Parts: sequence; structure tokens; C-alpha cells
Amino acid sequence: MEQSKLEQGSAKDSSAPTMTDINLDRALSRIPHVHKGFIDVLRYPKRVVSVAFPVEMDSGHVQVFKGCRVLHSRILGPGKGGIRYHPDLDLHEASALATLMTWKCALIDVPFGGAKGGVTCNPKSLSAAELRRITRRFISELGDNIGPYIDIPSPDLYTDEQTMSWVFDTYDVMHSGNNNRAVVTGKPVSLGGSVGRREATGRGLCYAARHFIGKHMVPGLSSLNGATVAIQGFGNVGAVVAEQMHCLGAKVIALSDSQGGIVNREGLNLAEVTAYKREHGSLIGLPGTMSTTNEALLEVDCDVLVPAALSHQICAHNAEQIKAKLVVEAANGPITPEGDRILADKGIQVLPDILANAGGVTVSYFEWVQNLENQQWELDEVNDKLLKKMNKAVDVSVERLKSLIAEEGAQPEDDHAYPLDLRTAALVIALDKLVAVTAQRGIWP
Ligand code: NAD
Repeated sequence: MEQSKLEQGSAKDSSAPTMTDINLDRALSRIPHVHKGFIDVLRYPKRVVSVAFPVEMDSGHVQVFKGCRVLHSRILGPGKGGIRYHPDLDLHEASALATLMTWKCALIDVPFGGAKGGVTCNPKSLSAAELRRITRRFISELGDNIGPYIDIPSPDLYTDEQTMSWVFDTYDVMHSGNNNRAVVTGKPVSLGGSVGRREATGRGLCYAARHFIGKHMVPGLSSLNGATVAIQGFGNVGAVVAEQMHCLGAKVIALSDSQGGIVNREGLNLAEVTAYKREHGSLIGLPGTMSTTNEALLEVDCDVLVPAALSHQICAHNAEQIKAKLVVEAANGPITPEGDRILADKGIQVLPDILANAGGVTVSYFEWVQNLENQQWELDEVNDKLLKKMNKAVDVSVERLKSLIAEEGAQPEDDHAYPLDLRTAALVIALDKLVAVTAQRGIWP
């Protein structure tokens, strides 16, 4: 296998395998007897919608934006996945992320298939009014390709509760007379959002990390209490991870956003960090901290590293320099397959994205259920249910990893290109489930 070529297989090169493709093949290499036809269908999105639409800008001129929505699978239920607004978003990337959502939903055991989409734009250069017009026009272009039983969007990079409110409102205007709340999750609570949804990804990640460490899976780390933590990205997910880690007794020593990072080995004061970021729009310059780059932040000496920003952050070029004992993937795809291999060689444990950041889609599912039933659960109920889902996903993934290791133990040193790790085990569980359900449903006609 040509590793260098695969490493370069970024989302921009549509001929190269994505990390999702490579990780699928990694898992399949461990379960060679799985039904090939049932798997092949999972290599392609079920439906791809690509749109282009004009928007009147604040200046009065008209700009054309491109958007897309990819529904990867409906085997387990309607599509579910984020809407992101980012300059790098294209169909290739949306397809890879939609596929990842299919694995995630299957693993965490919620009745959805994977989806993803968004608008290719730079949200930082757009006003709130422009973002509203882009969102409304994008959703109207998608038409009935989204819906409470078809495909249910949620927030992702540079989209938030406000964006989801516009998504809901646009769909509701287009389908008046129905209870349309279940068309989108991650809404404000006042509009049918679930309490605890905003924090769910970060909170679920911390539950999973605590449970994983508690199972003695991380050499040299027995608890989050007292552990040092570095987090790349201080957005919705990263900021909640910081807060939750602090609540669990961990010391957050390094944080970053798109402009760079800050370090204080004695522990950052999160209230000060938040206030400084709000006032200055950046973390850099917070008194009592050292400035660092996003690249250097990943290499900080710490117990737990949480990449919570973009994909492809830990790769062949820098994995050797990672010093954390555990890397917990808050972002989707922050570690490349080659990065996985190097981390495994160094004995660094990885809690993979399909498990670690599945708290978001889990509470999105809770929100969807509440919307369909016109219910509003209490925060304790949401968090208890989330805790059970995350812990169970950790338990089954660790058990599957151990059983895969035991199954392969009898064989001579294998020729697998990548390590047998928790990512592979978690994906094997998802694939087993998808294949079993496909067989139960039968191939139509
Ligand atoms: P967000 O837009 O709220 O925050 C993104 C953060 O990343 C910001 O702090 C931004 O400054 C930072 N960032 C941007 N470019 C960067 C760069 N080059 N280097 C370092 N930091 C950079 O997004 P979010 O909702 O927090 O999502 C973050 C990641 O988590 C994404 O990969 C997303 O797909 C994933 N995720 C989010 C959810 C969710 O519920 N929001 C669920 C699962 C996975």
C-alpha cells in the first residue's frame, strides 16, 4: 500500500481514497467473511444533491453560492448529519463525512443513517443577515430532500442554534399545517430544542473518555481527575469539553482557536478565557498565558489531547511529536490513517470520532423523539440517557477489540497495513449491524 499517496488523499482530491474509505477497508480486513455485496452498497452515497443559488448581499450585489446534501444510507432510518458552512466544503468531503455518520449512528445505536452537507462559503466574512438569506435559500433549494422522516440536519462547523432556527422556519413555511419541529435538531430550547443538546457532544466525549480510562485502557493514566488536557478548537465542542474536563477534575493547560493557542501549565482559568475571547475575538494575548501555534498545541506535553476543530490535524508529519497518553477525537477525522499507525507504535491510545463525538447525534436523536411526541425532557433525564449510551458504546467497542485481538492472536504476524485499534473495532460493530439489518430487510425487489 502506498502510504504517502494515501496520506495525501485529502478531501480535495476526488480520485484519492478518503480517510473514510481507508478506515472502512481497515475494518473489512478484520472481518473478511462479511457479505461483500452488502458492504459494497455502503461505499457509495444513496443520494447526492448539489445546488447553486443566488443571494443578495448587504452591498446590493448578487453572489452565487454552492451547496450540497449527501444522504449516505437509509438502512437504519432517515438521514442525520450536520450542515457546515466552510470554504473547503465540497461533495467529496460531504460524502466522506456522511459515511462517517452512518458508522456513528450504527455504533451508538440510534435509528438514523448518515448524512452531511452545507454551503461552501466563508461565514466569517458574512453578516448575520447574509447568513440568514443563504440558509433560507439553501433549505428551499433542498426542498423535500430533507424532512422529519427523510433527512434531519443539525449544527456543524460554523453553524449553530440560530442557523437551525432558520432551517426550521424555512421548512415550516414550506410545509405549514404540520408539526415540523423534528425536521432539524440543535434548535434553541424555546423552538423545540432539547435541553443539553448544545453541550451533548463535549459532555458525551468526556463521559466516554472517563469510562475508557476507568477500564484501564490508557497506560499511565488512571483518571481524568488531575489529568492535564490540551484542546485544539474552542468552538461549540471544544469549549464544552474544556468546561466538562474541568468539572471532572482535569487541568486544561492549552487551548486554541483558528488564530492560534495559549498555554499555562498551571491550568487555564476558563471564565477568563471565555471573557477574553468574547472581548478580543481571539485567545492570543490572554494575560498569564504563553502564545502558541495550532501545530505546536498538538505537541504539548499533556495526558489527554482533544482535537476539536478540523480533520487531518494529526498525520504522518507530526504524529511522532504527539506526547499525550490519550487522544480523544472531538472533530471528525482529525487523525489520518498514517497518524493512527504512528500513534499506535508510540503506545498512544485513541478514542475515535465515531465513538467519542457521538454524543451530539445521540442527543439529536433525543430531540427528534421529543419533537415527534411534543415532549420536553428534563436535563437529568437527557444526561442520564446520554451517559448510558456513551458508556455502552465504550464497553462494546472495548469488548470487540479484545475479541478481535484474541481471534487474531492464534495467527502468525499478519500483513495488515494498519494497527488493530479501537477505531477498527468500533467500525466492525457498525458494519456488523448494518449488514445484519440489510439482510433482515432484504434487497428490494
Ligand atoms: P465550531 O464552528 O463551533 O468551532 C470550531 C472551532 O475550531 C473554533 O474554535 C475555530 O476557531 C477552530 N478552528 C477553525 N479552524 C482552525 C484551525 N485551522 N486550527 C485550529 N482551530 C481551528 O464547530 P464545532 O461545532 O465545535 O465542531 C468542531 C468539530 O467537531 C468539527 O469537526 C465538527 O464536525 C465536529 N463535531 C461537532 C459536533 C457538534 O455537535 N457541533 C458533533 C460531532 C462532531
